[in-house]
Amino acid sequence: MLIEMLDVLRCPYCGGRLALVDSLFHRRTSDEIHDGILGCHCCIFPLVDGIPVLHVLPAATVARDHLQAERPELARRAMFGLDDSSQAEAFDAVASSAVATYRDTVEALGPNFEGGYFLYRFSDPTYVVAQAVARAVGAVVLGGPPSAGGAPCRRAIDICGGSGHVTRTLLDLSETPPVLADLYFAKVWLARRFTAPGCEPVCCDGNAPMPFARGVFSLAMCTDAFMYIWTKRQFVGEMERLVDPAGAVLIGHTHNERTWSPSHGQPLSPEGYANLFETIEPRLFGEGNLFADVAAGGPLDLTRRDDQATLDASPALTIVASRQPGVFARHPLEQPAVTGELRINPLYTQQPEGEQLRLTLAFPNEEYAEEYGACRQYLPETLTLDRSVVAALASGRVSDETIDLRRRKVIVDLPTRYY
Ligand SMILES: [Zn+2]
Repeated sequence: MLIEMLDVLRCPYCGGRLALVDSLFHRRTSDEIHDGILGCHCCIFPLVDGIPVLHVLPAATVARDHLQAERPELARRAMFGLDDSSQAEAFDAVASSAVATYRDTVEALGPNFEGGYFLYRFSDPTYVVAQAVARAVGAVVLGGPPSAGGAPCRRAIDICGGSGHVTRTLLDLSETPPVLADLYFAKVWLARRFTAPGCEPVCCDGNAPMPFARGVFSLAMCTDAFMYIWTKRQFVGEMERLVDPAGAVLIGHTHNERTWSPSHGQPLSPEGYANLFETIEPRLFGEGNLFADVAAGGPLDLTRRDDQATLDASPALTIVASRQPGVFARHPLEQPAVTGELRINPLYTQQPEGEQLRLTLAFPNEEYAEEYGACRQYLPETLTLDRSVVAALASGRVSDETIDLRRRKVIVDLPTRYY
């Protein structure tokens, strides 16, 4: 963790600043803390493998005791929930390997860890909408890298961001690295290592007050998780508190109480969601219209006002709250620079045919087809590619053809060593 993060972090319970307890075991350099104990007015929290753990659930207490006894490797095992010693050793081997992939690491964490579809995440319909909205809103409120004159350091936070798939899309929108907050240590650890390298991971509880100072972010977002939060009023109040007056709060893909959806959670009605906002007026969007904008190649129209019938019938909603009028505009969909490896979407099987490669769309199972089948609107059923295109991918060259294939998600920019 960069030491400057201490300006951003606060105790979730007393609101006090946190500081490294120098008298207890710690490992640090001049600008980063690797392991140690953070203290405030009321408690002490472990900082394990560069990640502050700002909750008091049992694993955090065990990890803190291990750190105080100068056993950082056991503190990390406790945070990963690796109780079985042979599994823990297998995981440590993968974690210290320079060639292990995201998939290898997920597999080493055991079958209960990540329920399945991470391979296809970057092209699923929920993700493409979340990416488009986050980039559109983020480009306005984060304002890009600071100018030579020293513009303010604007920062984003992805709350309940899991293993950082959406955080990844925030990385190039500001000079200051985005914060990724989630309850699951293993997920934010994976994000920093693979999915969103350079982000600042924080382990904290979304049902507790958020462990950050007032107004230190310009974008506070949460995608595909808000319906699982019980303390929704507190959560939104905290998001409003975290952003500066010119910032934005964004809740993407939250389910609608008036419709059915897989993995429903505890959703509210559209007006129930709107009612949570007390200081910044929110606008609600049915995800379907935003998806249609993205599938058509843009622009993403945030000037639209969905009527009540549209909102009521939308299985998922996107909520944007900001005082910046520029947020509620028509945003062209630019293609982000390649930051990882361009690869053929793993939803395709590949069949060599002479100098060509035949791709056929093949969903992993019926369940996936049912939940994410809308990706057919941009993913063709079959297509053939010249092998030269495939060879160009491997060498990182970007041609006009690649640009179009990327727009349609046939080719995806995946994190380095993803699978
Ligand atoms: Zn405290």
